[in-house]
Amino acid sequence: MRFQQTHKINTKTKTFFVFLCIFLFLAQSSNVFSQKKYVIVIDAGHGGKDPGNLGSGYKEKNIALKVALIVGKKLAKKKDIKVIYTRSKDVFIDLWKRGDVANHAKADLFVSIHCDSHTSNAHGAGTFVLGLRGNKKNLEIAKRENAVILLEDNYKERYKGFDPNSAESVIGLSLLQEENLDKSLAIASLIQNNFALKLKREDRKVKQDNFQVLRETIMPSVLVELGFLTNKKEGKYLNSKKGQEQMGNSIADAIQNYISNLKLNTVIDVVTQQKMVDDIEYKIQIASGKNKLATKSYNFKGLQDVERVQVSSFYKYYYGNTSNYKEVKKSLEEVKRKGYKTAFIVAFKNGEKISVSDAVKMQ
Ligand SMILES: [Zn+2]
Repeated sequence: MRFQQTHKINTKTKTFFVFLCIFLFLAQSSNVFSQKKYVIVIDAGHGGKDPGNLGSGYKEKNIALKVALIVGKKLAKKKDIKVIYTRSKDVFIDLWKRGDVANHAKADLFVSIHCDSHTSNAHGAGTFVLGLRGNKKNLEIAKRENAVILLEDNYKERYKGFDPNSAESVIGLSLLQEENLDKSLAIASLIQNNFALKLKREDRKVKQDNFQVLRETIMPSVLVELGFLTNKKEGKYLNSKKGQEQMGNSIADAIQNYISNLKLNTVIDVVTQQKMVDDIEYKIQIASGKNKLATKSYNFKGLQDVERVQVSSFYKYYYGNTSNYKEVKKSLEEVKRKGYKTAFIVAFKNGEKISVSDAVKMQ
């Protein structure tokens, strides 16, 4: 009798554990309880033997580090964010290594923090994204980084036919680069808005440039110039605790805002995927830049009906509009023959930009 009772309890306990295991497994795999973590790499410029600029007697490497740590500390409190620093103390790190850290962490965003200097009395804060010319190098890195997957087991199943040596896969990577540029422009605008509107710093706007450190990363990336140390007033502000807290918090707020936007897009995608099947539009981006051109055919090598769209302080020029992928591919050839060698296809779902591969999949 005693034996039987013990046996009964054991069976109950076992059943309980089996159910617990199934529950935990389902919770894990259904993502209900495990949120996606956004990986943000924060890169304090310079360090160690490289002090950066020494305007007004301040050290860029120290100010960049202090602000970077403020940004990271604020973000790290968020459950859905994981912060990685390229350096958290006064050490020298090669430029390529900084990008490498972000690439290997599969980061969602890379933010490099610097201070500017000039012989004039220039002042103000600015944020940079990589110029289009620089993107070629990232593409090479993306190819190299992705080549690593060939060494992984079962890569064919896991990466669904991705072959880093095939032209199509490389085109996929190019499209990814363009998406990265859009996202970089988005986060850069949010940072600049906070600097200019909330902190009333002189707004040096979002600019494109060819910073080496931005050429090493394969995810959306920006470089922030907090201000000019060479300007006495601004140098003093940036070297102060108050200035560093204000600038750091502005960057952190902008990043949180950016992530909320990313999440919102995902939610919209899931909710509306079903009825959007017919609402896919393809266009060809033929050019982008700071110049606002009239959309007349004489400005675009004879192309009719060019559309101009403003994204922060940049303009994008689109040609064509079709829901047929084959058609847009033909138009792309036509546009390239006209001399727009770097033109590429973009996709929209109900007016929202999405990746071309997603658009094709949905159809
Ligand atoms: Zn610097």
